[in-house]
Amino acid sequence: MYVGRYAPSPTGPLHFGSLVAAVGSYLEARRQGGRWLLRIEDIDPPRERPGARDHILRALEVFGFQWDGPVVFQSRRTGHYEAAIQDLLEQGLAYPCGCSRAWLRARGHGSVYPGICRRGTAPHPEGHAIRVRTHDEPIGFHDRRWGPFAQRLEREVGDFVIRRRDGFHAYQLAVVVDDAAQGVTEVVRGEDLLASTPRQIHLQRLLGLTTPSYLHLPLVRDAEGHKLSKQTGAAPLDLERPARTLWDALAFLGHRPPHALREAPVRELWTWALAHWDPTRIPPPRCAVSPSAIPVPTADTRS
Ligand SMILES: [Zn+2]
Repeated sequence: MYVGRYAPSPTGPLHFGSLVAAVGSYLEARRQGGRWLLRIEDIDPPRERPGARDHILRALEVFGFQWDGPVVFQSRRTGHYEAAIQDLLEQGLAYPCGCSRAWLRARGHGSVYPGICRRGTAPHPEGHAIRVRTHDEPIGFHDRRWGPFAQRLEREVGDFVIRRRDGFHAYQLAVVVDDAAQGVTEVVRGEDLLASTPRQIHLQRLLGLTTPSYLHLPLVRDAEGHKLSKQTGAAPLDLERPARTLWDALAFLGHRPPHALREAPVRELWTWALAHWDPTRIPPPRCAVSPSAIPVPTADTRS
């Protein structure tokens, strides 16, 4: 049984780029007769915006998405993330680290953490993060759109944070624990998360969890070529004329619904989309770049 999911974070209202990811994951789940789950990734309160959560749920309803089962909120699942961290600590696969970003930078270290605290750290007045150990064997997977992708985490990313110094759990850990708990079989999301996938597969292996398959969708970019993002103030979805915007999202994903459906009730456009969705029509990656040319985000941030 196919299980897909959509997992927005409430750091702002949904924008056109968020809609494209929702449409791709929804249609792929329905094409395969699968379930489509909705998860709100609200584990980073400092970055969340008041009202964003309600706006997201309302926008998904107005656009006619139908999710299966109750909405899952990550803020109510922190006990599960903590249990995974304790499991890794007990196995010696994770360790406390008191190095701040400023301290590392002052010593000439870039975004790749050099493993300083692997052999222990002194108690730090401001507390410590928990990092997971990485190794230098390539961790690869076959993305359904990108093809093969691999990283050597130790040299390309370094041991990465799974619980931050401020006590919040990192996205990389929460997403792995929840995808497994919800039985997700395929992750369909924006390609900004392609470079996070080897870290997530690493955690799945350490925690004895199944690796789903992956399909990373093209990103919607603004005129300067930057990814549309909630934090940088991308325009919220217009809830007055959802069919027009949904039509545009389908077009972005390589589909050409009849033009008249732009003015029809949104459910008629869904009927067309469910009958015509074909993931092979999604535009291919814009250019062939070697995986190592894709920048790895320096922090566990996303939009
Ligand atoms: Zn450290």
